Amino acid sequence: MTVQPIRLFGDPVLRTPADPVVDFDAELRKLVADLTDTMREQSGAGLAAPQLGVGLRVFTFDIDDVLGHLVNPVLEFPDEEEQDGPEGCLSIPGLYFDTKRRQNVIAKGFSAFGDPVQIVGSGLMARCVQHETDHLDGVLFVDRLDPEGRKEAMKAIRQAEWYDQAAPPVVKLSPHLSNPFGLGR
Ligand SMILES: [Zn+2]
Repeated sequence: MTVQPIRLFGDPVLRTPADPVVDFDAELRKLVADLTDTMREQSGAGLAAPQLGVGLRVFTFDIDDVLGHLVNPVLEFPDEEEQDGPEGCLSIPGLYFDTKRRQNVIAKGFSAFGDPVQIVGSGLMARCVQHETDHLDGVLFVDRLDPEGRKEAMKAIRQAEWYDQAAPPVVKLSPHLSNPFGLGR
């Protein structure tokens, strides 16, 4: 078990959708241990494999002393209820922004041994599960903000002392590519 360096905003691995886990082997269990150790060392509520540079669909969580992990998660929402509150990310250290999430979630997946697991969560647990599953799709919580909030967040990120100006963030839709497929005209 080892604490690993966490990839920061701007690292392309955070924008790359992760692959489903196929082999539930010792290597996967080492990954879960590394995620758990790193998350706890940083006092994080959750950590997803891409944040350690590993493109697999795995995350760990530590919410209200409930420590766990989930492999190949699939989310279901039992109702329409929403929550709004501050959210942060170990890949965007020191910055928190109010983020809308669903209040209740059912997450289905597997343990590192391949056993089926279901997490029924609300509030903070539901927020964490949604945040970490987003990581597996290359989505960061600032993407979930409204346009004004996202602008404010991007400004704060660019001003953060950890932010590497030499590695510009991957922009999902470049304003310079208004006709990205070269069609029409
Ligand atoms: Zn995060």
